[in-house]
Amino acid sequence: MIVKQRSIPLIIRQEEVLERRLPKSHPKRPTIIKSLKMRKSGFWGEQELDYPLSFLPQDQYRVFHDVRLIETNKAFQIDTLILTDHQAIILEVKNISGIIEFDSTFDQLIRKLKGREERLPNPLAQLGRQRRQLANWFSSNNFLMPIKCFVVMTHPSCVLKASEINPHQHTITHVENLQQKIINLKAENISENTLPSNINKIILNSNTPLGPIDVLKKYGIHYDDLNKGVECPRCFMSPMKWTRRRWRCSGCYFFSSDAHLRTISDYFLLGYKTINNATLRELIQHNDQAVSKYFLSKMNLQTSGHKRSLLYHSPHTL
Ligand SMILES: [Zn+2]
Repeated sequence: MIVKQRSIPLIIRQEEVLERRLPKSHPKRPTIIKSLKMRKSGFWGEQELDYPLSFLPQDQYRVFHDVRLIETNKAFQIDTLILTDHQAIILEVKNISGIIEFDSTFDQLIRKLKGREERLPNPLAQLGRQRRQLANWFSSNNFLMPIKCFVVMTHPSCVLKASEINPHQHTITHVENLQQKIINLKAENISENTLPSNINKIILNSNTPLGPIDVLKKYGIHYDDLNKGVECPRCFMSPMKWTRRRWRCSGCYFFSSDAHLRTISDYFLLGYKTINNATLRELIQHNDQAVSKYFLSKMNLQTSGHKRSLLYHSPHTL
């Protein structure tokens, strides 16, 4: 049973705003495009899990995608957590192409692709940390569970290689073998059932998704560098003009009464916690205080301050 679905990671949505709003000639644009490509590939890789996991008996496996828990003030994120009555399974997904070698001598991951060799972050080290943190989190919630881990390789052209007997060889699997690996774990298991009956609720209530980060600061981009204005939802041309209580696109002549909502959402996705009337006027390129006030008041955002210093709060921080 899938208890928690995955959604598009917020950082992808944040970088998409930068991709859309940075001028074509901006020097940081290639960095953003490269980062987005990698993140989207990672997200597609995670979706590759859905098919093999769909064959697990629904009543015996609880699946939680994209869970972020806090343990002694430190957050840890798990791509997929599976719970049975007797054990927990952590899946760390890697969507990497090429020949992948897990070198246990130096604990490193080497990728050979197109004649080049490069070292990538070792997912086994990451899994080890997640496992320790999850064990501590279980114990702080007063239950005990054996924890198994897998690195799941999802890229169709990934070839796994080991130069010697690798102590982690059973931890690393191609996605097509995952279902069988999980079923096999069941046979090994001997532990008592210690899982609370309300475990789904406990995990869902403890899930603490990360809010938007200051993505401009992360990439050293200035807010003034971004293109402003309301984008046309149909042809993406910007800026639309507000006329007769509607946004009008001068490119495709599309009309919209709420195209500004995406523009305001873009602003909050940059990581800003609040917006005021003046900032919105500049953002939507329409200098009418009453119109901006009307837009903001319709959004049911939390506010603070009053009159000229009235601030509307980001829905992400609520
Ligand atoms: Zn248009």
